[in-house]
Amino acid sequence: SFAYFDWITHHAEVRPDRIALIDLATQRRLTYRALDDRIDRLASHLASLGVGRGDRVAVLAANTTDTLEVQFACFRLGAIFVPLNVRLTVHELSFIVGDAAPLVLAHDSDFAAMAGDLQSKCGIAHLLQFGAPYEAALSAAPRLARAEAVTLDDVSTIMYTSGTTGKPKGAMITHLMTFINAVNLGIPAFITQRTVFLCVMPLFHTGGLNCYTNPVLHAGGTVILMRAFDPGETLRLIGDAGIGLTHFFGVPSIYQFMCQHPAFADTDLSRLQMAGVGGAPMPVPLLRIWQERGCTLVQGYGMTETSPAVMMLDSDDAARKAGSAGKPVLHADLKIVGPDGEPVAPGEMGELWVKGPNITPGYWNRPEANRTSFTDGWLHTGDAARVDGEGFYYIVDRTKDMYISGGENVYPAEVEDVLYQLPEIAEAAVIGAPDPQWGETGVAIIAVKTGHDLPEAKLHTHCRERLARFKCPQRVVFVEALPRNATGKVHKPTLRERFLVRET
Ligand code: AMP
Ligand code: MG
Repeated sequence: SFAYFDWITHHAEVRPDRIALIDLATQRRLTYRALDDRIDRLASHLASLGVGRGDRVAVLAANTTDTLEVQFACFRLGAIFVPLNVRLTVHELSFIVGDAAPLVLAHDSDFAAMAGDLQSKCGIAHLLQFGAPYEAALSAAPRLARAEAVTLDDVSTIMYTSGTTGKPKGAMITHLMTFINAVNLGIPAFITQRTVFLCVMPLFHTGGLNCYTNPVLHAGGTVILMRAFDPGETLRLIGDAGIGLTHFFGVPSIYQFMCQHPAFADTDLSRLQMAGVGGAPMPVPLLRIWQERGCTLVQGYGMTETSPAVMMLDSDDAARKAGSAGKPVLHADLKIVGPDGEPVAPGEMGELWVKGPNITPGYWNRPEANRTSFTDGWLHTGDAARVDGEGFYYIVDRTKDMYISGGENVYPAEVEDVLYQLPEIAEAAVIGAPDPQWGETGVAIIAVKTGHDLPEAKLHTHCRERLARFKCPQRVVFVEALPRNATGKVHKPTLRERFLVRET
């Protein structure tokens, strides 16, 4: 029965008074007993709105404990939790909401106007606003009569990621995947009921929800939620003996911002048992800066589609193997293949493929992507990797056309689609350029139609109206024509060669 996998109910019985969640913005502290009770009431309220097995419930909010209540209420109902990226525009979100077709959209007051727009554009039956309306609904709701008989293979969550075809795809996440990730990450990250974890990454990304929020709640530990990342406040919390943080996780940019903060030099980092980093390539010089402060960052590699943990360094190897993403996690299978799909020779570079109980069964409503993304159950990651003589993996490149800006993935195809809407543009290509702060930022290379004029400001305004800020190109280069290969495709390696300043 699924009841064995309802962690919150378990901890509410075994350690009722232990603090499960702290919301820094509201100073709310929830014990496991209180959290369990609120989840139950929320589930019964959602059921009264008609939410049942397989129905979607979306959330549009900055980090709040309420979002996690929605997740766990969905789990009890066998409903599907759909966290939405608040950085996207209404234009981008309406595609996602249209695809997921949620019955309910929960949101915080900051995104009330956006939620209203989405409701009218996409025809969502119910909005549920966090704060007073949400609290009133919980108070009025009885406890849930009976949890749904969910199985581990049921989809619990849909997380949207963009794609090389330009349109976002919803990765289906099953209960099994989330459970397996709690084990795969929990063991090497030393996550126990004593863990006190600070989450600064957004809960609408797997990097916030599953690194390490869900594994910590699975173990019966404490999660402290920051509404949005603030480097000075994060350093203060890490150094605070009274709070006693044991665990932290961030993408490389998070560590970059913290080490540039004036408080970095004096912060006591010694209480952290685990400072994990992943989600984008981690520069070795940045690892060294933290190392010099006595804090060894532990790298891992993963994807939304893989729950996310796929590989992780052993903390004992982290200093010696700086730059490696580690070795495979416990319950996952990896191979590095050549263009023919056959494993490459040891030490050679190839595409990383992953298989196992941590892998998505596929994308929501995307039969075509589901055919092309897998071979015999192996997920093609689109990342290029190699293994050294001791079995340590290095992520060395990408085979997919994507770049990562501050931990947010950007698919040039999506940006190029938007650029081509400008009638003055004859040819457009977007590439990621190295950036010390964000990892990478976008460069648009544009050929304007003869006889036309395109002011750069017009291009920027056009992008900002349609695309999240992190997807908008930072730099524009105008050219006569784009280099193309024999089949007529824009040749991006040539563009990178010509327009990117190589780091030496
Ligand atoms: P997402 O689905 O948003 O989590 O993005 C997954 C992608 O992030 C992967 O396919 C990689 O391209 C990238 N990524 C994740 N972890 C690492 C890492 N440790 N080093 C380099 N790239 C990474
Ligand atoms: Mg990412």
